[in-house]
Order: sequence, then structure tokens, then C-alpha cells
Amino acid sequence: MAVENCLDELPITTLKGVGSKVAEKLGRLGIVSVGDILFHLPFRYEDRSEVVSIGALKPGDSCLFEGQVELAEVVFRGRRSMLVRLSDGTGFITLRFFHFSNSQKQAMKRGQWMRCFGDIKAYNKAGGAEVVHPEYSFISEQQRGQIDEGLLAVYPVTEGLNQTSFRKLIKQVFVMLQQGAHVCECLPQHALKKGQYLPLLDSLQELHYPQSMPPSDVSHIPAFQRLIFEELLANHLSLSLIKKGVKKQAAPSFNTEGTVLLQFLKTLEFDLTGAQQRVVEEITSDLRKASPMQRLLQGDVGSGKTVVAACAALTAIEAGYQVALMAPTELLAEQHYKNFQEWLSGLDIHVTCLLGRHKGKVYTAITGDIQLGKTNMIIGTQSLFQEKVSFAKLGLIIIDEQHRFGVQQRLALRGKGVNNDTCPHQLVMTATPIPRTLAMLGYADLDLSTIDELPPGRTPVTTTVLPVSKREKIIQRISQGVADGRQVYWVCTLIEESEVLQCQAAEVAAELLTECLPELNIGLVHGRMKAEEKQAVMDQFKQKSLNILVATTVIEVGVDVPNASLMIIENAERLGLAQLHQLRGRVGRGQRDSHCVLMYKSPLSNNANERLSVMRETTDGFKIAEKDMQLRGAGELLGKRQAGFMRFKVADIVRDAELLGSVSDCADRLLLEHEELVEPLVHRWVANSVEYVQV
Ligand code: ADP
Ligand code: MG
Repeated sequence: MAVENCLDELPITTLKGVGSKVAEKLGRLGIVSVGDILFHLPFRYEDRSEVVSIGALKPGDSCLFEGQVELAEVVFRGRRSMLVRLSDGTGFITLRFFHFSNSQKQAMKRGQWMRCFGDIKAYNKAGGAEVVHPEYSFISEQQRGQIDEGLLAVYPVTEGLNQTSFRKLIKQVFVMLQQGAHVCECLPQHALKKGQYLPLLDSLQELHYPQSMPPSDVSHIPAFQRLIFEELLANHLSLSLIKKGVKKQAAPSFNTEGTVLLQFLKTLEFDLTGAQQRVVEEITSDLRKASPMQRLLQGDVGSGKTVVAACAALTAIEAGYQVALMAPTELLAEQHYKNFQEWLSGLDIHVTCLLGRHKGKVYTAITGDIQLGKTNMIIGTQSLFQEKVSFAKLGLIIIDEQHRFGVQQRLALRGKGVNNDTCPHQLVMTATPIPRTLAMLGYADLDLSTIDELPPGRTPVTTTVLPVSKREKIIQRISQGVADGRQVYWVCTLIEESEVLQCQAAEVAAELLTECLPELNIGLVHGRMKAEEKQAVMDQFKQKSLNILVATTVIEVGVDVPNASLMIIENAERLGLAQLHQLRGRVGRGQRDSHCVLMYKSPLSNNANERLSVMRETTDGFKIAEKDMQLRGAGELLGKRQAGFMRFKVADIVRDAELLGSVSDCADRLLLEHEELVEPLVHRWVANSVEYVQV
């Protein structure tokens, strides 16, 4: 077929009636090419295939009906409106207009026939129906019942572009298709042949011009399923392309003896678990290759990812390269800094931490050492890559708690640290396990390693759910716990992102606890404190000079104080499962049995009730993730600020979860056998990501 006939490549202005103004409006809907307009799907349908007699109209229906004007009057009850009484011999109905002109009123003379379409509402006790602002036309008595419309698609449109003009554009495109134009069929023959999916044109025809009234939820009809599959496939492929692109780049290969690593493991106060050993091997084998590692290390809270990160870092450092570790919060960066200093100081390795508070001379000294290669390991937050820090010889980037960053940010980091055409290896770690199917899609550019075992001696945390009215009992329990040698977290949460309110709530809670438990040492950390202040309080808690740490969700990630074994979470009903699981992961890190109390305010919504029950029933992060996906939707799970990627037009990862397995298979096969389809497919559905595809 001639290329010039390919609608995917034809600018929208080729259509009759589309000048630059209309093109701009269509652009707002994401429609740029003629092909795009076909993928702008109706969100509902109207049945105009038959005229319903007025006596048979039911409230809730959207129907076509015809009738003769009996009376048109302007009334002032409440709001000025024109009421038109229409009858067809089987019953009567009232049309109500709030906006009307005199000429409109005059045209609705007694005896005039009208054809109307609108949503039927019941409006009075007698059951008389009415329609507000129906579409209408005047007909002669002879024209009654002579309709030429059938099912009509209703599209999401934008200001200045109405249904009628949009429908005309669609019509034009279908005429072009009949005359030999085409859109790219991006599904491979094998998927179509098995009869699994409808050919593209059949699908589009069915969705724009259905033969019979589609169900109100179209997601399960074959025509729609085909498009869902296509969109998921396109998203998967866009990440696969990135992966392929990165693999083609050069990376330093760390062919080390592993002596430093061995030395480190000898000094470590515990042995790695089997799972940790396995993932360390997976990682070091990647690091030996001359193409960049892109690996996701997944492991539940407390499974011991940090020490695995240290092993990876040592491999790079032994080979003479620098390592950058990026944490989502300064608190966590600082904690990592302490750990790595302690672990690596005996090995003659220079570790540094670059934080927001480092200014002036200190900043210059730190970044100077990094640039000169005096520093081997650099720990910080995102600012590590935002500021103009230049690395002498960056070989490995480690991103901790990557779910905090989101797909887009992760990809944006790809270009960083590229030096002399070699690209650093990347290890991303996430504590929030996500369901396997979702991981296959959202992390299709990464290889996956999983720590599926907790360090020995851990007992699962027992969780209780209590209403806020039991506060006194809870405080008593804290008192007993502390007498027992426990340390306690009291977590204040608010759903609003308002940091100020959250900190205030924490201050109030700390005061209340001090009043109730005057003999105990109570500390407070919140987001509005300076980093040094926060760190000082954390240190006191870690050194056991505080019994209770009142905190906001700043302690959600990474904080590791094994002796803390009781946690109270206020307003637990307001938090999502992933966040609750993360928070609860702060306890259960030591040898002692640990407890978590989820405090809630009644009444609980069904969804909140379910979340709290899940928390009570399981501590398994993978199970919680599955449930979280069902309750909350998938977009959230893949990262907080999703843009571009994983924002779907037709697919819904939760609803369409069962397709994800075959999407991944089909993507692999497409890359091998039909590479020519990949680009058009990605372009059609994920145009935004093109810049990343060309890594
Ligand atoms: P996470 O995977 O949540 O980042 P951490 O790396 O913070 O977990 O580890 C949690 C705690 O478990 C830390 O105190 C760490 O020292 C300890 N730990 C890690 N691996 C082991 C192990 N193999 N045996 C005993 N303790 C371990
Ligand atoms: Mg961690």
C-alpha cells in the first residue's frame, strides 16, 4: 500500500474543515494525525434507531421520541423556564428549557410536531416525565417515524468542537478508509490469526459505528479488548526499547578478584541470607559485563537490601570506580551514610554524604573530592544529580526506595553520569513489592532480582486495629511496653500533604504523651525540623536514650532501629496499604516479638475497613501489594508522580491484569520477528516517551 495513504502519518489538517484553529482544538485532545482521530473513542452511545412512544418512556432512558405540542408556557416557579407539553396519543411529556428565545417559543405552536432526543427524568409525584434541554427538530406529520440515524457515538470533545462536527470528521476518515487509505495494523499475524484479537479496522468500525447497542461497560467486548491489548503492548515495548538501547551502550566491566568484598563479608556481624547471596551473585555477574546493568532489586521491608547495595558498591570500588547512592529523603541518606561509614571505614574506602545543608566551603570541599576521585562512595538525595556535581569516574548508580521516584524520574537519570561514552551501571531498589504482572510492565526496562527471605530470627509483627476511643488503653500499653524494655514509635499521619498540619499534629501528640507518661523520655521528629535536628533526635532514639519517638511519616522509609518493637499509627484509616506496610516495617527488625497498633476514627469506609483488615491478617509485602493494586489501582503503585508512562487511554492495569502475561510474551516475539511494527505501535500509543526511547 502506498505510504501516502497511511493515515497514521497524514497531518490532521488534511481533513476537510480542519484549519489551524480546529487543528489546535484537536491537538488538545491529543489528536495530531488523521490516524489519531480513529483512536479517540466514544465514551457512550445513544440509541436513535427507533422512536419510542411517549407512554413507554422511562426515567433514566435516553430516547428518541416524537410528539405534538399541546402547550408552551413560560413559568416563574423557582427559575424562569419554558415548559412545552408534548403528546403522541400514548401519553405526554414536558420539555423544559431554561434558556430560550422568543422565536423558539413562537415556533412551538400548538399542533406542531417535534422530534426530540434527551434524558428522561421523573419530575412530579404523579409520575409525569420531563426532559431538560432536549435536542429537537420540527417535523411534519408525514415525517413521523422516518429516521435515518441509528446508534450514535458520543465523544469526549472540547470547547468549540461539538459532537456533530466531530462525528463529521470521523465519517470523513472512514470514507478515506473505504477509498483505500489505511492505518497500520500493528498486531502481528500470529495474534490475529489465532482469532484472539479482531483486526484493527473491524475493531474501530465496531467502536465508532456499532451494529447493536454496546454494553455500558465496553471494556470486555472484543473490539475494545483488542485496543487494550495494543496499548499495553505499546507501553511494554517502549520500555523494552529503552532497555535494548541502553544495552547497546558501553559500560565499565568490573573484573575484580572480589577480595574487598570478601573482606567486608568477614567483618560483617551477620551472614548473608541465601536470598541475599543469590542476588549479590546476580548483580556482580551483571557488573562484569561491558554493557550497563539495569537491575531492580525487589525485597520486602527489612529484607536487607542495604547490605546487598554495599556488596555491589564494593565491586565497583575495587575496580577503581565511584558509586553514587541516591535516597528519597535526607534522613535516609544520612542513615545510609552512617551504615556505609561503619562498614567501609576499615577497608580504606572514602565515603561521603552530600546534603542540602552543605553550603559554601563544605560543599566545595565535598564536591571537589568527588571530582578529583578522592571519594569512592557518594550518598545523597536527588540533588546529587540535579546539582552540578561532576564525578571523576562514576561506575555505579544505586537508587534506594525507587517507588518514591516514579518511572519518569528513574529514566531521566539514565543520561546522568555518562562519561567518555561509557554509561554507569544502575541498581534500583524498592521495598514495596509490586505484583509480578505489574512489574513485568512497569519495569520492562529492568532485570529483576528478588530477596524473598527475611534475615533469621525475625518474628512477624502482630497487628491490632483499635478505634481512637481506646487511646487510654493504648497509652497504658506503651507504658507496659517501655517497662519491658521496648522502644516505641508513635506515628502521626494526615492525608493532606500539608506538612505544617502534620507537624502540628505530631507536636500535639508529643505533648499529650508527655502529660500522660511524665516519667518517660519522649522525642519528636517531623519534616519541618532541620536535618541536623532530626538526625540528633534519631541518634538519641537509636542509642536508647529515648523511650518513645513521636514522628510524622518522615520515618516511613529506611529508618532502622532494631530495638523499637511497638508502633502506634494514628489515623491509620487514611493511609494506603503500601504506606502502612512501609511504616510498620520499622518494627519487627530485632529478635523481639513486635506489635503494631492501627488507630482509626469511626466510621470506617468499606475500603478503609478492608485495608485495615489486610494489615491485621498479613505481613507479606507481596500479598499486600496484590490487595493494594485491587483497592487502589495500579498507577499509584508504579510511582507517585507518573507522567507519560503508565497513563493509559483505554487500558486499566487492574481491570486488565489477566492480559499482562500475554502482553509480555507478545512483546518479546514482536521484537524478534516483527521489529517493523514496534515503532508505529509505540508512536501511536506512547508518543510522549519518544525522547526516552532514543537513549
Ligand atoms: P531494607 O531491605 O528494608 O532496606 P535493611 O537493609 O535496612 O532492610 O535491613 C534491615 C535490618 O536487617 C538491618 O538492621 C540490617 O543490618 C539487618 N540485616 C540485613 N541482612 C541481615 C542478615 N543477613 N542477617 C541479619 N540481619 C540482617
Ligand atoms: Mg532500605
